[in-house]
Amino acid sequence: MYYYYYNVEMLIILFFVRLFGAKCFKCCRMISPTDWVRKAREQVYHLACFACDSCKRQLSTGEEFGIHENRVLCKAHYMEILDGGCTSSDGNEKGLERHDEEH
Ligand SMILES: [Zn+2]
Ligand SMILES: [Zn+2]
Repeated sequence: MYYYYYNVEMLIILFFVRLFGAKCFKCCRMISPTDWVRKAREQVYHLACFACDSCKRQLSTGEEFGIHENRVLCKAHYMEILDGGCTSSDGNEKGLERHDEEH
């Protein structure tokens, strides 16, 4: 199943960093003990780095999001990708249906 939804958690990382030397999953920089971070499963992100890869909108605590090929996506864009399927066809005809029924 591809349907993975996670809720965004926010935490201060203090001990986490000291223990594991955590790095931001997005920018790969070290997370400093005073940084606010977002957590998605085992991955941690800087607060600013945790945004939808498609619309760049920052995701807030409690919001649903999905991870697709290691990219964070807001729910809307995640659904879009799932809808569009894995084939990278740009000629998606969604919403382009027309009915010419007038004679
Ligand atoms: Zn970062
Ligand atoms: Zn988005």
